[in-house]
Amino acid sequence: MALMKTLLTRLVLSNTYRATAVRFSSSEAKLTTSDDSPVEMENPYKKERRQCILCKLNIKPDYKNYRLLSQFQSPYTGRIYGRHITGLCKAKQDLVENEIKKAQNCALMPYYYKEKVFLKDPKLFDPENPIRSHRF
Ligand SMILES: [Zn+2]
Repeated sequence: MALMKTLLTRLVLSNTYRATAVRFSSSEAKLTTSDDSPVEMENPYKKERRQCILCKLNIKPDYKNYRLLSQFQSPYTGRIYGRHITGLCKAKQDLVENEIKKAQNCALMPYYYKEKVFLKDPKLFDPENPIRSHRF
């Protein structure tokens, strides 16, 4: 009877051992196949998304903030700089132009020159070196 018991336990043990061996070999096979496959990762050469300065700083142009708006105006003629100079996106450029016109109608900003007080404000862009060449 004792012999039967040991035989049985050996059988059970060998069965479990075989099962673990099979499991181990299958996991090893998975490991070897996954080692060769390309690793999922983000594109390291992905370019950073370009944003205009107002979008980057999350600024909404407003006619009451005429000091900011005056930075988009020529100091000599009072002309509103185009998109090829300001480098703004289409939506923000339209907003800036509308808000400048609103401020001019409210007499907060002059039409034909830049307010003398704002002449020394830091420049957001260089009007002498446009980002894109003029479209004409
Ligand atoms: Zn923008």
